[in-house]
Amino acid sequence: MELVRRYIQGNHLITTYVLDVGGVKVAVDPGPPNSFTPTDADYIICTHIHNDHCGAAGHAGKPVYVHERYVGHVANPARLWQATKETLGPIADLFGEPKGAADVRPLRDGERLFDAIDVYFTPGHAPHHVMFYYRDGGVLFTGDGAGVYVPEIGAVFPTTPPPFRFDLYVESLRRVASIGAKMLCFPHFACTEDVDLLRRHLEQIKAWREAALAVKGRGGGPEELAAELRRADEAAAKIAERGGLLYSFFLWQTLLGLLQS
Ligand SMILES: [Zn+2]
Repeated sequence: MELVRRYIQGNHLITTYVLDVGGVKVAVDPGPPNSFTPTDADYIICTHIHNDHCGAAGHAGKPVYVHERYVGHVANPARLWQATKETLGPIADLFGEPKGAADVRPLRDGERLFDAIDVYFTPGHAPHHVMFYYRDGGVLFTGDGAGVYVPEIGAVFPTTPPPFRFDLYVESLRRVASIGAKMLCFPHFACTEDVDLLRRHLEQIKAWREAALAVKGRGGGPEELAAELRRADEAAAKIAERGGLLYSFFLWQTLLGLLQS
């Protein structure tokens, strides 16, 4: 498997994984438009249509597979781009404007692609979220459905932008935790054989949700929740310490989603 690390202003934003399945090359999550570089992939598959994952699908000029109900958003991303700008503000421009993809194909829950990759609908992070399981290699491509994994600091933390659905997220995590994967590959940012991480992340998201409900109950906002999580969770403390997009994009969106859910 080939790894293409994509950067925005010196920040590692996402890793594109290029798999060779029986001579067919498949790229998982091409990244945002502004970090696009071509790969030799024959097909693109997107875990979900957020701009940092699938924004460059139209630049790649290859058939792209997305959740069956969101084909139109990738073929004609004008509305999606508008919503992205409203949600992310200046960070949207940092990632860049998507182009419509000419050949967008629907993914269906439970289907097998290229006779090798199983498709699991895993809503929660977003309604259009799917995970891919490469059965021969035992590799689960988690998308944003199992958090952000930062190997340099050995930390995982949730990425739950609004509109986050806690109940669906937990249900999706439980579903894929029972597959028996031997390796997890996170677009943010690396793979690990520590598959117990799925279980630990499930406990973590429950704890963060509890913290968010408590803060919300007191009428508090994202700053207060950030402070609370930094005290309670070493991962949150490390992310806040590192700053950059890890804090201003990933963690901040997570706080907003948790408080709104
Ligand atoms: Zn996302």
